[in-house]
Amino acid sequence: MSHYSLIIGGKAVETAGYAEVTNPSTGDVAGLMPLASPEQLEQAIAAAKAAFPLWSAKTSDERAQACLAIADTLEAHADELAHLLTLEQGKPLNGLGSRFEIGGAVAWARHTASLDLPVEVLQDGPEGRVELHRKPIGVVASITPWNWPVMIAIWHIIPAIRVGNTVIIKPSPYTPLSTIRMVQLINEVLPAGVLNVVTGGNELGALLTTHQDIAKITFTGSTATGRKVMASAADTLKRLTLELGGNDAGIVLPDADPNAIAEGLFWGAFINSGQTCACLKRLYVHDSLYDQVCDALSAYAASVKLGDGLAEDSVLGPVQNKMQYDIVSSYVQDAVDRGGRVLIGGAPKDGKGYFYPITLVADIDHGAKLVDHEQFGPALPIIRYTDLDAVIAKANDNPAGLGGSVWSSDPVAAKAVAARLECGSVWINKHGAIQPNAPFGGVKQSGIGVEFGADGLKELTTIQSVFC
Ligand code: NAD
Repeated sequence: MSHYSLIIGGKAVETAGYAEVTNPSTGDVAGLMPLASPEQLEQAIAAAKAAFPLWSAKTSDERAQACLAIADTLEAHADELAHLLTLEQGKPLNGLGSRFEIGGAVAWARHTASLDLPVEVLQDGPEGRVELHRKPIGVVASITPWNWPVMIAIWHIIPAIRVGNTVIIKPSPYTPLSTIRMVQLINEVLPAGVLNVVTGGNELGALLTTHQDIAKITFTGSTATGRKVMASAADTLKRLTLELGGNDAGIVLPDADPNAIAEGLFWGAFINSGQTCACLKRLYVHDSLYDQVCDALSAYAASVKLGDGLAEDSVLGPVQNKMQYDIVSSYVQDAVDRGGRVLIGGAPKDGKGYFYPITLVADIDHGAKLVDHEQFGPALPIIRYTDLDAVIAKANDNPAGLGGSVWSSDPVAAKAVAARLECGSVWINKHGAIQPNAPFGGVKQSGIGVEFGADGLKELTTIQSVFC
């Protein structure tokens, strides 16, 4: 059984205890996660703090070169990382699975390397010169979830180190192994202490959020945990970026072509078996084409093969853990109890692993858990509407505000509807497509701040105005 180590100050560090990480496709043990003690967490923070003066003093170009070297290293180990990611996360190697995730991490690292935040001259004249400098903040704590563990880790790590911060990452206890291996590889490129990894239970995250030597927290996870992070960071006034849960609405306008949009709707909702923050989680379809959209989506869903992520022909994998599997099961059951019509799926599968079938539930409305709450799994509610103003109000009637989409043959009409959705990203005739040059973040209770692009990079800096 492979066991993994913490990486602190550039060295592998053993722990007194280890915990089993489960392969969600089989229920077998994927590997052993080291359980960091509070003392080891202190050591990691001390290592990151000690590395900060030298790393922050490097030139921007030196740090850009380091980020490119990281991308090269990850690319060279892409197959190994993808295999490990599938083993612990469950997502298939192929399609929009592990190989796609590692490729995305490499692409994001390269793009972020190319960004820069040069000094801005705000004023230069007889009244004097004023410059705006952006400086690294210090030690950044990165706390990541289990759905896209490698890609999200890269979204946290690369911008932080690009601008001169040092980092401690604490991955989810459900998927720590690929992060540990990645940090080990990255440490072959970076000076000791610039990037450290600690693993263990949720209490490690809580300790990081209160520690006086952590200057900034980049957190991706549920809104419930995000609230706790914000509260415990208050005492030391830490900078925060919070990327939290979503309950994205998609609105299909009457002029859409059901067969043309079915594939895009499906992948918007079911990428990573629905375990994606910006998945399409509530689908509103106009009454005039409701049945056609339901039929086209069901036909597409029936063609998608669910299976063990390590099988080369699997297109979607299991739910990552029992807790999430139970949430999805109970939300679908609640929908059925309220008269929802299951078009496909609906019944949990027998046998090994946390396989929940791709599920579409029609004739359902607000008031059902599957609509009101984030399901974060492979079950999509399809809601009928007749009035455009009323459906926009319903789409916005949720505390979350991560993403949204509008589906139509008329891009101008679609854009006008999109502008009325309360969310940080909005797509026309697609859903959830993100890219490294476009800021991404939630409004309302889906988060604070953005990631990606120069705007994302700025969140890892503080401003110093220089009057000379
Ligand atoms: P989670 O909130 O349960 O856990 C996220 C991380 O927080 C884990 O590493 C966990 O160990 C840690 N943690 C738990 N309690 C903590 C505490 N008190 N203090 C500090 N850290 C603590 O989330 P999850 O179940 O791993 O992930 C799923 C959620 O993440 C979904 O709601 C999803 O929408 C959201 N998500 C959001 C984005 C985004 O960019 N907005 C991206 C991916 C996932």
